[in-house]
Amino acid sequence: MFTLITLPYALDALEPVISKQTLEFHHGKHLQAYVDNLNKLIAGTELEGKSLEEIVKASTGGVFNNAGQILNHELYFSQFKAASPVISTGSTPVMPDLIGHLKSQIEKQWGSVDAFKAEFEAKGTGLFGSGWVWLQANAEGELSIAQYANADNPVAHGFKPLLTFDVWEHAYYLDYQNRRAAHLQSLWGIVDWSEIENRYTK
Ligand code: MN
Repeated sequence: MFTLITLPYALDALEPVISKQTLEFHHGKHLQAYVDNLNKLIAGTELEGKSLEEIVKASTGGVFNNAGQILNHELYFSQFKAASPVISTGSTPVMPDLIGHLKSQIEKQWGSVDAFKAEFEAKGTGLFGSGWVWLQANAEGELSIAQYANADNPVAHGFKPLLTFDVWEHAYYLDYQNRRAAHLQSLWGIVDWSEIENRYTK
């Protein structure tokens, strides 16, 4: 049985980037529905008792969609922390705490953190319909930014998932309506880079 993950912060901790109301629906309703659906779909099948990663790699159709969405949302919700009061420099928030191996690799591949951010935001904004934009790593530790539609994700394609922005409208519509690009830009202010670094180096 899969259960709904507990958020590692209060429901209002990510405001104003992600409102309490959005989290109540996104975590409490949307993710809960994926959990309930997957539990029903795999009950009594050979997939019962497998990990989310195993199910994502082994399934298609409704099982893949619900397992993928649980995996994606668990990584998404666990990568944020309360916005720092000192992160804003005019219109462009700076990225707090991006250090270590991941920062070095980003600068090696993109030239600068700003160039990386620009490509990530562009691929999130340019993804048509519902899906996710990801920073992912291959077995050699090389990074890439990928767009995946609907519930698809790096795990299904043999990559390690590091950072993801949810571009389904349910992730931002209550707070930003149609302004997806503005929402994606604001998310940099709440990314917990120590968590992303841990995912990269483990
Ligand atoms: Mn979502």
